[in-house]
Amino acid sequence: MSVDQNKKVEQEIEKLIEIINYHNWRYYVLQDPEISDEEYDALLNRLKKLEKETGIIKPYSPTQRITNVISTEFKKGNHLFPVLSLEAVYDKKKLEEYIKSVLRNLKQSELGLLCELKFDGVSLSVIYKRNDGIFIFDKALTRGDGLIGEDVSLNAKTIKTIPLSIDLGNDNDTEGDIEFIQVNGEVVLYKNDLQRINEERKKEGVPEFSNTRNAASGSLRQLDPSVTAKRNLKFFAYSIRFFDREGKEVRIRKKLSELFELMRSLRFIVSPFFKTCKIEQDVDALQEYYENAFEMKDSLEFDIDGVVFKVDDLEFQDRLGSTLKNYKWAIAYKFHTSIAVTKVIDVVFEVGRTGVITPVALLEPVEIEGAVIKNATLHNFDYIKSKDIRIGDYVEVRRAGKVIPEIVKVIKELRGDVREIEEPKFCPSCKAELIKDGPFLICPNKQCFEKIIAKIVHWFSKDAMDVDISDGIISKLVKNKIVKDVVDMYNLRPSDFAVVGNLGKKSASKLYNSIQESRNRSFDRILYGLGIPMVGLRNSKSLAQKFKNIDNLMNASFAELVSVEGIGNEVANSIIQFFKDEENRKLIERLKRVMNNI
Ligand SMILES: [Zn+2]
Repeated sequence: MSVDQNKKVEQEIEKLIEIINYHNWRYYVLQDPEISDEEYDALLNRLKKLEKETGIIKPYSPTQRITNVISTEFKKGNHLFPVLSLEAVYDKKKLEEYIKSVLRNLKQSELGLLCELKFDGVSLSVIYKRNDGIFIFDKALTRGDGLIGEDVSLNAKTIKTIPLSIDLGNDNDTEGDIEFIQVNGEVVLYKNDLQRINEERKKEGVPEFSNTRNAASGSLRQLDPSVTAKRNLKFFAYSIRFFDREGKEVRIRKKLSELFELMRSLRFIVSPFFKTCKIEQDVDALQEYYENAFEMKDSLEFDIDGVVFKVDDLEFQDRLGSTLKNYKWAIAYKFHTSIAVTKVIDVVFEVGRTGVITPVALLEPVEIEGAVIKNATLHNFDYIKSKDIRIGDYVEVRRAGKVIPEIVKVIKELRGDVREIEEPKFCPSCKAELIKDGPFLICPNKQCFEKIIAKIVHWFSKDAMDVDISDGIISKLVKNKIVKDVVDMYNLRPSDFAVVGNLGKKSASKLYNSIQESRNRSFDRILYGLGIPMVGLRNSKSLAQKFKNIDNLMNASFAELVSVEGIGNEVANSIIQFFKDEENRKLIERLKRVMNNI
């Protein structure tokens, strides 16, 4: 790093320290934070990174403060069974790796799993002790270090969904002589309760809670149980274990799912939306559960931050065991929530398959949840204006669900030398003059290379033709004018791929074969691959089911289209518009010659 650069970084460090100290003051002294915990962490991580890279560590840096998080307000208690955390993954590939390793360890070819939502609350152990044939609430412990937690019994007792006694009934006379029961679950606060509590706090002039998790944690660790009682906390149970007098575990069921049924009969709220499933190597069913959870998360009454998969068979759980930190028989598949702070280096413009120009921010590489982020979508110019994003700005970036990362906001306090992002007048690919359609810029040129490339890439994508071909090869084929649409791809020979893609004989013929084989793809995949605006995976499936082939669909009336589930007026119009286009009609005639199920 040059002296000049070093000086710039040092300035940034100084500024970051100033901002973080300001937020510390807002949080700890005024008890009135302006930013979320995640945003605060992102700033602190940026500072830590710069300090590590440059070795410039100011003695007054907030990273030098030793934090003491151990509270001395509550007495401590031992969990009967350690409450460990779960290993977390953030993408399907990592999930697949985990499942494969479990199958390998257990020497099984299939696996029964219990799928649950991952509640964004506070973990709690509730311990019951035998008394006159039934089991009486003995104590409730926070997770603490996993072995010893804080005793919050008085507060937990105010939570009406935690039974104060358990009657095991017929299960009582097992040989193991059960003496203790430990039920684990999550204490959550419903979203509407958070709203109510915050409105009250606002009136009283006390700081509001930033989210349901913080509010649940604060409520559970109240020194005055009457306050906890007013908060309307809920307890979702997801584990129950039985122990004899010596603390040795006693099993009265073989599967976790059976224990869920038992807990339900013991009047606990068990983990809402749980289900069991059987899988082999393929994790599609788990991915679907995850995506459904992601879709419904905003409409749920409580907050979730992912899903959890647990090995259902308890003997398998024992065989897998745990590390010091994690159970090995469960995995959390989390939604992306982490935020990182980085810098916008430049902005480039990408041409989509419909010709829409998307501005993309090139970022100083930054790691979020194990992935290195180098760019973020800026959507369109309205978005850029509303967030006032400029080149050179420091920004908060977030990975949201499946899509590419996006910029949450600009950190104006860090703004130094910046320049505005200028609207391009011409297509970056074909230089055609762009036209404006609302907030969108569009390349009108039908022969625009980037548009053709994007169309072909989409056609061969996983949910359409599912052919593993690199964007680079497609790009070269288009730019060398060897292909001009998807149909041309089916007329290429293996040698074409070998030359253009610089592939060996084997790889070239493998690619050729998989393209040829994709002629057999089903009609719904073809529909999706066509990339009709507003017709995604789900609509393609329902349209294919109703109309069976492309001719029926092209001849369908507006009324027939909107009679299909999920197809509204806008989508119907988009479909009609698509098939009116002369170019599209020509393409479909050509496709009929190569595709078998059209
Ligand atoms: Zn163009």
